[in-house]
Amino acid sequence: MKILVINCGSSSLKVGVFEIEEKSTEVFKASYEKFEAGSCSYEITSGGKTATGEAPLNDIAAALVALPRSLADRGVTKLDAVGHRIVHGGEDFRTTTVLDESTIKVIETLTPLAPLHNPPNLLGVRIAKEVWPNLPQVAVFDTAFHSTNPPRATTYAVPRTWRDAGLRRFGFHGTSHKYVAIRAAEEIGVPLRDLQIVSVHLGNGASVCAVNYGESIDTSMGMTPLEGLVMGTRSGDVDPGLFGFLSRQHRLSIMEVEEALYSDSGLKGLTGSSDMRDVEDRAREGDADAQLAIALFAYRARKYIGAYAAAMGGLDAVVFTGGIGENSPSMRRRICDGLEFMGLRLDHDRNQVVDLANHGAPQIQAYGARVRVIVTRTAEQLMIARETAAALKPMTSVPAPIPIAVSARHVHLSRRAVEALFGAGYQLTPAVSLRQPGKWAASERVMLEGPKGRLERVAILGPERPRTQIEISRTDGFALGIDAPVRDSGKLEGTPMVRLIGPAGILDSDGLIVAARHIHTNPDDASRLGLMDGTLVDVHIEDEERGLVFGKTLIRVSANAVTEMHIDTDEANAADIRISAEGSLVPDLSALAVRSTEP
Ligand code: ADP
Repeated sequence: MKILVINCGSSSLKVGVFEIEEKSTEVFKASYEKFEAGSCSYEITSGGKTATGEAPLNDIAAALVALPRSLADRGVTKLDAVGHRIVHGGEDFRTTTVLDESTIKVIETLTPLAPLHNPPNLLGVRIAKEVWPNLPQVAVFDTAFHSTNPPRATTYAVPRTWRDAGLRRFGFHGTSHKYVAIRAAEEIGVPLRDLQIVSVHLGNGASVCAVNYGESIDTSMGMTPLEGLVMGTRSGDVDPGLFGFLSRQHRLSIMEVEEALYSDSGLKGLTGSSDMRDVEDRAREGDADAQLAIALFAYRARKYIGAYAAAMGGLDAVVFTGGIGENSPSMRRRICDGLEFMGLRLDHDRNQVVDLANHGAPQIQAYGARVRVIVTRTAEQLMIARETAAALKPMTSVPAPIPIAVSARHVHLSRRAVEALFGAGYQLTPAVSLRQPGKWAASERVMLEGPKGRLERVAILGPERPRTQIEISRTDGFALGIDAPVRDSGKLEGTPMVRLIGPAGILDSDGLIVAARHIHTNPDDASRLGLMDGTLVDVHIEDEERGLVFGKTLIRVSANAVTEMHIDTDEANAADIRISAEGSLVPDLSALAVRSTEP
């Protein structure tokens, strides 16, 4: 598929054309800026050649209208779709969306949330619709990747009326964070959904994102792109109390304070320059303001990395991107300094000479360091093209029915756990065979105890496992008073402790999870159904009253498995499934994005 990507800002236009296949390639790239009466400057790269100069184009609209000619002159024809960067998708747009008049109208209502960004983005959509009336127009939102952030990360502790009016955290740079997390996982050679990554995007705008097993669970920008890190001209985190102080003591209006926080703060407020290269040069020459600015910039980023490692309960990799993250070895070093206690140590030589050509993602951690440190150039345009292509793949439902089984709370015990609970040398008694070959429920039961309460007569499933794993529903978590994470079976790092009580003793064990829904299948059924191990699918449950789609269902292929989807009791209740049911597969787009490879 050949996708035209349009990133229409307030003062510049960036365009790319990508051939999206198994290996994606950028066949055309252009930027237009410095619009003045009658002209603008441009840079166009195509067929390995770059041309720069002045063009007689008044404004961004004129540059867009002239684009088909520029493309045709370079042999770039037969486009399949246009992908647009839209900064704010609000609560309405949680994923890439094919645009029509009604969706465009909804995006227009989001203007108050991003007054500087969404209007020019939408101008690009309007003009593109006129220039390419027969092509699908697709919106890729900066906020969408963060739509998985839980309420504890998106909620401000403010009056209900404000929250009811839409005040909440959204986060930005989502396309960049998603791209670099995928790129880091490819470099490490481990599926993204098995990694805990902190993505650090340091450009003129800057943000950090906690990418926990493939999903954003928190990010440093909030309702607006003002929150979080120190940026080129933006303050990042401040005490909201400063509004009252500046109003009372200095007679500044809210507009004046807001304007200063957006445009005269950050590096610019601290040093007079918003450009990190200037600031670093001046610091080297001994300028105390510049030295403080650099220290503050690094300190804030380091605090967020630590905070997000804590939020995820683990850290496998830190990825640096954006103009500063990609190009400033000294800033990367300052940020990482002091994080050795978390297993994060840089190799100073490798940090000094990163080569980012050809979408490189070099690792710069010290030999033997537990946490990887990766640098890579962000590629938001490529990501927008990929997402656009994925959104346009035919959404044909695969009708093959998938049997669904409901798993009530249960435990898998290790040998040590069996002996602690039932006595030395004790062997569990298989009582009921399960559908998966070799699996059974034991006649013995255990009790679970948490700070708030107990769950009695919890089933034990055999055979024994190397590590104890306790699977409960979210509702069970409330009864116990323990916040268990949603995890795939076996992914137990950093999981909470719970007390198991048996007839012969008690055992405090970690391994408490809410099991992520999954489909067991065997290689034959997998190939018949077009399923791949480790990917995610959506499963549609048809029911007149409570039908729903279970998203992000993990495919687990193993030699003798019986094809069956496992959900927990909360999920079953939501779909009104009593003991068993059938579902049908629908294609999943995020799995496709994760699998795609780099040019
Ligand atoms: P934007 O967020 O506008 O896309 P960029 O990602 O291009 O911005 O980042 C711009 C920032 O990167 C500027 O502060 C610039 O000084 C900084 N930068 C670019 N190259 C270097 C470098 N070699 N060393 C330090 N900072 C750099």
